Amino acid sequence: MSVHTHSEHDPNCIFCKIVAKQIPSKVVYEDDHVYAFHDINPWAPVHFLLIPKAHIPSMAHVGAEHAALMGHMMALVPRLALQEGCTPYPQGGYRLMANTGVDGGQEVHHLHFHVLGGSRPWLKG
Ligand code: AMP
Ligand code: ZN
Repeated sequence: MSVHTHSEHDPNCIFCKIVAKQIPSKVVYEDDHVYAFHDINPWAPVHFLLIPKAHIPSMAHVGAEHAALMGHMMALVPRLALQEGCTPYPQGGYRLMANTGVDGGQEVHHLHFHVLGGSRPWLKG
């Protein structure tokens, strides 16, 4: 897979620090290009984040050069969701979410996909 991204690492970015293991996290999955870990403040029984290792600030920064990376990440979601305990589709399933910019409610400016699942009720959503 060829992956061309922006600056690989932002020293001020909390998720870059997680990728670099300078800040601890609970791993869900890792390979050369992506990292997945439990959200520190979960609002569903299953709540993890899937991120590129490279520092891409948001979905607004994704272009054709990221197609392979984005495809790789999306193709991982079904497997990781079941691995982490989401109930199988269609009775179960999950919510896949990428908050983008101020209107999207994005707080951490390193691209991340939330995967939320497990039995309801949830704290939010
Ligand atoms: P948002 O940018 O609004 O999509 O959300 C950022 C998410 O990152 C929130 O759900 C936070 O709980 C989560 N988060 C922030 N810091 C950490 C951390 N150190 N480890 C795991 N999750 C985190
Ligand atoms: Zn970053």
